[in-house]
This record gives sequence, C-alpha cells and structure tokens, in this order.
Amino acid sequence: MSTSRPIALVTGASRGIGRAIALELARNGFDLAANDLSHSNDLETVVAEIKANGVDALALPFDVSDLGSHEIALTNIENGLGPLTTLVNNAGVGVMHRGDPLDVSEASFERCMTVNAKALFFLCQAVARRLLAQTRDPARPRSIINITSSNATAVAVPRSEYCASKAAAAMISKCFAARLGPEGIAVYDVQPGLIETPMTEAVIDGYKQRAADGLCLFPWVGKPEDVAQVVASLATDRLPYTTGHVISVDGGMLVPRF
Ligand code: NAP
Repeated sequence: MSTSRPIALVTGASRGIGRAIALELARNGFDLAANDLSHSNDLETVVAEIKANGVDALALPFDVSDLGSHEIALTNIENGLGPLTTLVNNAGVGVMHRGDPLDVSEASFERCMTVNAKALFFLCQAVARRLLAQTRDPARPRSIINITSSNATAVAVPRSEYCASKAAAAMISKCFAARLGPEGIAVYDVQPGLIETPMTEAVIDGYKQRAADGLCLFPWVGKPEDVAQVVASLATDRLPYTTGHVISVDGGMLVPRF
C-alpha cells in the first residue's frame, strides 16, 4: 500500500472517457481504484495498463446507483490503497431512445436521473465525509471532479431527460464546491462536448460533420484523452485557487456567437 501517492476513484473506467482519465491520472502518479458496473476483461485490462505506469491499482466493480455499495467500495479503497484524495464521477448513461420529449418514458427519465445525478450526489457525499475525516495536508491536493456535459447547458431536444440529469449534476457540483471550499477541497464540473467514445459511436459521423460545419470553434470532435488531460490538470492542482467552476472541453462549442 502506498502512503505518499495521491489516490483516485474513477467511476465508469473500463472504456471511453473514464478509461482515458484513469490512465492519465496513473501517468501523473496516482494510485487508482477503477470502477465499472461489473467485472469484465475490459476493466481488468485497464487495471493492468494503469499498473504498467508503476502505480497501484484495483478493479472496483459496483453499480454507482446502488447507494448501499458506496461505503463498502470506499472502505475497500482505504484498505487496498490508502486514504482517497480524488473522486472522478464519470460513470454516466445516455437516453434509452432519442426522440420527442413528449414521448420520453418514465424508465428512461429515472435511469438518467438515477445514474447521472442521484448516484453522483451521494458518491460526492460519501467521499466528502471521508475527506473531512482526514487531517488536512496542503501538500496533498484533494478534489472532486464531476463529468457532466455541454447538455447541462445546451438543449438537445431528442435527449431531454439526459439534459435534465446533467443540469442537476452541474448544480450538485456547485453545491459541493460551496460546502467543501472552506475545507480546502476543490470541486469541478467538467463538461465535455462532442467526444468520440462508445457512447457516441452511433452518431459520431453526424457530430464530425456538424463540428466541421461550424458547431464548434475547432472544426473537429474531441478525444477521451482531451478530457483526461484536463481532469489530470485539475486533480494535480495545476489550476490553483480555483473551485466550483465549469470547465468546458468542447472545442469552443458553447461560445455565444451571432
Ligand atoms: P461510455 O463510453 O458509455 O462509458 C460509460 C462508462 O460508465 C461505461 O464503462 C459504463 O459501464 C459505465 N457505467 C454506466 N453506468 C454505470 C453504473 N451505474 N455504475 C458504474 N459504471 C457505470 O461513455 P463516455 O462517452 O465515455 O462518457 C463518460 C461520461 O462523460 C458520461 O458521464 C457521459 O455522460 C459524459 N459525456 C460524454 C460525452 C461524449 O461525447 N462522449 C459528452 C458529454 C458528456 P458499462 O460498460 O458496463 O455500461
């Protein structure tokens, strides 16, 4: 067990943005608890890739929306790696079916809200309680980084329940930033724009075209590694004296224009 390295929990780490964040934090000297919904070869592969950077890692499968699993998971991290310094709430789900808000099912609304907002809130809460129980050490930056979305701000009519859940997650980030600021714990809301991952695989060609046509200031879509490098910068306090802010990783998509 390491005592000096920072220790991060990254949820939804077996693929996409979460995988890239876990690997980038490992390159930055973090020990990692890599979470995903279930145990899989992909998760084990990520853990092996993390360890190849000379840091410790454990696979920590649990459903983030099962609130009863949070304390068990955090205790496993403390026992296996040591006291947590960093939470990256990345796990998220899209809508069950894209379509008219008039047709959104209760099941899809509940799923978005439960995973993208409720689980994120209570994992922030559980981790914050543990961080507050630690002795404060200014040499050991502590942070909670929530991966929300440009859709926390920008409407996507065919994915209204996703937008609603991400807007809730954005406000949760601000609430925890306000609560934890006096304790020296930073909380950020990282809002990816159009990023090429398994989640966007079915629509990525259309996104590439829209980015090229001017939707984004950079006429291309982002990579998971772009988001990961921003998260690592935040987790290592390379944006000192900041908290509570939205960091848009969207190629300038949401810059107002006329
Ligand atoms: P992704 O490829 O679908 O990966 C999401 C990961 O989260 C998967 O490994 C998934 O596990 C895991 N997950 C889902 N529900 C979970 C649960 N209840 N408990 C634990 N893990 C769970 O998505 P992504 O594109 O990398 O997105 C990552 C985050 O960025 C999400 O919060 C997403 O909303 C946000 N985001 C993405 C984009 C984009 O353009 N890609 C843009 C804005 C925001 P399974 O494989 O088992 O399902």
